[in-house]
Amino acid sequence: MSALVINAGSSSVKFQVVDPATGAVRAKGLAERIGETEGAATIEQEGQGEQSTSQPFADHRAALAWVLDQLGGAGLLADVEVVGHRTVHGGRRFDRPVVLDDETLAVLRELSPLAPLHNPANIEGIEAAREQLPEVPHVSVFDTGFFAELPPEVRTYAIDTEVAQEYAVQRYGFHGASHAYVSQRAAEDLGRDPAELKVIVLHLGNGASAAAVDGGRPVDCSMGMTPLEGLVMGTRPGDIDPGVLLHLLRHGLDADELDDLLNRRSGLKGLTGTNDMREVRAAATAGDERARLALDVSIHRIVRYVGAFHAVMGGLDALVFTAGVGENNVELRAEVCERLAVLGIRLDAGRNTSVPRGRPGSTVVSGDDSQVAVLVTPTNEELYIARAAAATVTP
Ligand code: ADP
Repeated sequence: MSALVINAGSSSVKFQVVDPATGAVRAKGLAERIGETEGAATIEQEGQGEQSTSQPFADHRAALAWVLDQLGGAGLLADVEVVGHRTVHGGRRFDRPVVLDDETLAVLRELSPLAPLHNPANIEGIEAAREQLPEVPHVSVFDTGFFAELPPEVRTYAIDTEVAQEYAVQRYGFHGASHAYVSQRAAEDLGRDPAELKVIVLHLGNGASAAAVDGGRPVDCSMGMTPLEGLVMGTRPGDIDPGVLLHLLRHGLDADELDDLLNRRSGLKGLTGTNDMREVRAAATAGDERARLALDVSIHRIVRYVGAFHAVMGGLDALVFTAGVGENNVELRAEVCERLAVLGIRLDAGRNTSVPRGRPGSTVVSGDDSQVAVLVTPTNEELYIARAAAATVTP
């Protein structure tokens, strides 16, 4: 059996055909620049190289038609028994994966205002895929799903209860597939029962978030009602005094301008001009003070969250780095861990610099004298989505 995992963004569709039981990837790829005059797509099949093509995709429907055509032509759709859709916001309605029918899709459309940058694109992908693969069940797996169990004091923002109720204002948490997968995988690779472990996962990619997972359950998360809160990200600021927004509103910026500022012109990009951590790191190494400050602001925020989550859980057994920056940026891991020596964290410089690339599973990078295991664990959101989708349709 295989699952087809679809991650539809505003101008791209990522896909993967994966065996949920073994994690074997039969094919994966990406169709991008949807809606532009020049589109591009790549597909990589098991045991074969990568094939690329340039062609325009008018919309998500056209991009998915191309994807399904390629997969069908290679005989890869024959044993696809479920389609798992990465879906960003499940709101208060969906606290677990849901089989998509006309009714659940209608509820999902109602939730779009909660994630205006993400859910509409996810829905376009779902509609196109259901239309083109009608005989297979489709399941939404939500980024917010893993965090549906957050304790009430963590979910609740201290504002007027009626306002919060009316506008569905609460902490939802995001990157759930990554935090769930990585926290479980890290426990497994340590040979420990997740029920016995206090883990902090640092998902550091273009989007970045921290999660505290105690005994396999999420107990805190840096992202909030939207994916804006928390750590410094590629183009988003993370935590910011809400008074700043009032100040800017009163000075004439409107909601769309604030949206653009917070989602596209902040974070590393706002501080340095680029959201690519590799470029920021290279500039800092070459002596660029703005780049160094951007790194310091990012590291300070990470340290602050790890300290807070350590206190929230009353201890820490494992600190896990994942996603593009977390898996690859050796210096950032070293700088963060150096600041966390007070928690008994000791990195092993040799282990930290020799993490193998592209290998699934964790590498322990802490020293033998460390009181907290520090791991680099590549994330695999697609596998998590495939497994969650398969489990939803298999009684
Ligand atoms: P997304 O949130 O878009 O999925 P990724 O998890 O792919 O993001 O992470 C993208 C980030 O990872 C970029 O800032 C990129 O610079 C960074 N990154 C990737 N490889 C490296 C590397 N070798 N060293 C430092 N940063 C890296």
